[in-house]
Amino acid sequence: MALLDIQQRISAAEVKASRPVGSVQLIAVSKVQPNERVVEVLQQGHRLFGENRVQEAAGKWPDFRIAYRDVQVHLIGPLQTNKVNQAVELFDAIHTVDRQKLAKKLADAVQKRGECPELFIQVNTGEEPQKAGVLPAEVDSFVKTCRETYDLKIAGLMVIPPMNEEPSLHFALLAKMAVRNGLSGLSMGMSSDFERAIALGATHVRVGSAIFGERVAGVNL
Ligand SMILES: *Cc1c(COP(=O)(O)O)cnc(C)c1O
Repeated sequence: MALLDIQQRISAAEVKASRPVGSVQLIAVSKVQPNERVVEVLQQGHRLFGENRVQEAAGKWPDFRIAYRDVQVHLIGPLQTNKVNQAVELFDAIHTVDRQKLAKKLADAVQKRGECPELFIQVNTGEEPQKAGVLPAEVDSFVKTCRETYDLKIAGLMVIPPMNEEPSLHFALLAKMAVRNGLSGLSMGMSSDFERAIALGATHVRVGSAIFGERVAGVNL
């Protein structure tokens, strides 16, 4: 089964990188997948999932959480400020903090709720105009603003490398920026490159199609 295969490949990559087995968290990216496939993975005991849209997650996970109480869901897609309150309710972690306005809204929502999801700052290491994320030159000051101005606890950094470049360069850059800012979390690595991400220190890999099968073409990435 695909889940078991991915878990074994993660363990092997941890060993190869001289890292403790179990130190990398596998986020099973269930976006767009039919519920039957998600249930299969839940029934195999997996509990950590990723979604890239607030609306889609809201339609799916509240029910699954009743049946599987220890489920965790991470938001790995862009977050609009008007959905922040909903996102803070729905998700155990948000990987896509990428601008001041969003940090401010998160701070307000967290204050109201008294509880904060784990937060990762998305970095646009490739400086791609169409892609979300803080530019590399602005990461240090953005981390500082989140911490000092908004009193947000930041768990780590997240990256989606450019499509046609060697991802390892971007993983290495992200790891360096994390160390420099005293951050231990590194959300990096997808189906095609999670082993390379683990070699460079990933703490969270986001794997979708390699677990669930291909998503319907043209839909949602
Ligand atoms: C869809 C998605 C993934 C998973 O992609 P796969 O190639 O299917 O593993 C990982 N990260 C983000 C941000 C995504 O949107």
